[in-house]
Amino acid sequence: MRDFAQEIEDRKAAGLYRTRRHVSGPQQPQLIADGEPMLGFCSNDYLGLANHPSLIAAAEHGLSRNGLGGASSHLICGHHEAHHQLEQKLARFTGRSGALFFSTGYMANMGVISALAGKGDTVFSDALNHASIIDGCKLSRATIKTYPHADTDALEQLLAGTDGHKLVVTDGVFSMDGDIAPLRELAQLCHRHDALLVVDDAHGFGCLGPQGRGSVLAQGLTEAEVPVVIGTFGKAFGTSGAFVAGPALLMDYLVQKARTYIYTTAMPPALALASCASIDLVERDDARRAHLAHLVTKFRTAMTALNYQLMPSETPIQPVMVGDARAALKLSADLEKQGLLVTAIRPPTVPQGASRLRVTLSATHTDADLDRLIAGFAASAPQTTHPTRPAVATATIR
Ligand SMILES: *Cc1c(COP(=O)(O)O)cnc(C)c1O
Repeated sequence: MRDFAQEIEDRKAAGLYRTRRHVSGPQQPQLIADGEPMLGFCSNDYLGLANHPSLIAAAEHGLSRNGLGGASSHLICGHHEAHHQLEQKLARFTGRSGALFFSTGYMANMGVISALAGKGDTVFSDALNHASIIDGCKLSRATIKTYPHADTDALEQLLAGTDGHKLVVTDGVFSMDGDIAPLRELAQLCHRHDALLVVDDAHGFGCLGPQGRGSVLAQGLTEAEVPVVIGTFGKAFGTSGAFVAGPALLMDYLVQKARTYIYTTAMPPALALASCASIDLVERDDARRAHLAHLVTKFRTAMTALNYQLMPSETPIQPVMVGDARAALKLSADLEKQGLLVTAIRPPTVPQGASRLRVTLSATHTDADLDRLIAGFAASAPQTTHPTRPAVATATIR
């Protein structure tokens, strides 16, 4: 049998051991972690809706009307009118003709990719795509061709050299770097090479585009240009669940074929109603997005002045590059001593030598909160204007 204990010890020695903190109470910047009050900068609750009274009220109302359990899969008797209402709202919100509600983004990626590509087909996947995309590609049993991050020239060569059914899949906003995929170029390439484009906009929905409609609509791309868009409710929307949106025919196809849609219990209807309420809030609340953009600019200006190395990101995901995994853990621990919670992200989530603190900003952070974070970083700031840290690796991950 494998020596599992030794593998854990090896991880500890390499600074790659993972632990969980126990959070008490609601998710918000001021949170209790392992019993200690902390100011958090690592949640994906970008708009600060996870603890919003309107969403809680919608869920409570939904619970008292419809009870709790989903009771069955969608194709047996679990497809509640609340799910249907959410799908219609989603189609309108995303500017697509249809939408399908999944239990999580992980399940959506696994189900959608494995349904739309199979044995004998080819899936082209960005090197920095999310783990759930990578697993969806593997599950499909298609040939997987990984292209260098956001490199449309390399992708074009791969597409030109491949026959048969082709699917291109990319994050809209990359979850660990915060940069945005070259969606317009990708759409043009897919059109030229008759490939189906799938964009997972887990981090774009709610934050980017007109009324928070995501990175695809931020670039004005239609359903013909980007046929399949995936999003999650677990991040900016502050609830739970996920969706795919696109042509009605494809949605119908997925109901027939997406195994992670078919063989799982429907989400509690009350949660679907909370997500409906969340879409209403997200659409309306430009002020939250404006404050968030202000925080992003302020953070980048201050951190650059402190000689920290950032990534070219305009989104609330602002990685602070460190390089070595143990050094990233130490910086995180130094901040923690000051009551600041910023998690270190290490391999295999990011490439070797590209460990970082993944700072995420939220519309519920105040200017004073951000000042505290910047003061915390200032206490551990790099000494020189010419950092001797190694250049950040851009190698393929996982
Ligand atoms: C978080 C994330 C997912 C998974 O979504 P969940 O609803 O949390 O399962 C999928 N794709 C990307 C890019 C993500 O960042």
